[in-house]
Order: sequence, then structure tokens, then C-alpha cells
Amino acid sequence: MAGHTIGRTTRRFKRLAADLRTQRRPCCRCGQKIDYELRHPDPGSFTVEHIKPWSTHPELREDPSNLDAAHLGCNSSKGNGDGKPTLGSTSRRW
Ligand SMILES: [Zn+2]
Repeated sequence: MAGHTIGRTTRRFKRLAADLRTQRRPCCRCGQKIDYELRHPDPGSFTVEHIKPWSTHPELREDPSNLDAAHLGCNSSKGNGDGKPTLGSTSRRW
């Protein structure tokens, strides 16, 4: 009874992600520190970034040299584009 697994997440990949997490690296995209206490889906939380997208470089998908730490909000593999409203831009007129 294996249940259904999400095909893209393998045990090896999880291991690599855990290794990255323990290194407490800064974000490879913006260079800022990552708060490793934050959890998904917080945009400031840790996620694994594929330096070369695995969709075009499947052979590098689990290559440690192609993986780095990034903020969830900075990870280029999450959606495509910004367009997210940023918090803090409230224009109050009270
Ligand atoms: Zn970042």
C-alpha cells in the first residue's frame, strides 16, 4: 500500500532538500537570509530551487550541484511571474 505519491518528489530528493535545509544557506535568488522556522506556504519559507529547471534538464533534477536554497516566494519554479499583490501597500483613507 504505497498510496499515491507525487511523482516529482523522490526519497533522494527529500534527502537532498533536508541537507540543504541544515546548511542554513541564504536565498540563491535574492541573497537574503531565509527564516527556516517559517513553513510552506509562507513566501519567506525555505524551498529548494533548481538552478537549471528540471523540466528542461531532467538529468539535473536530483543533482546536488543544481540545487540551492531559495525563498518560496523567490523560487522561479513556483508559477510564472509575479503579479502577486504585496502586503503593506494599503492605502487607507480614513
Ligand atoms: Zn529570496
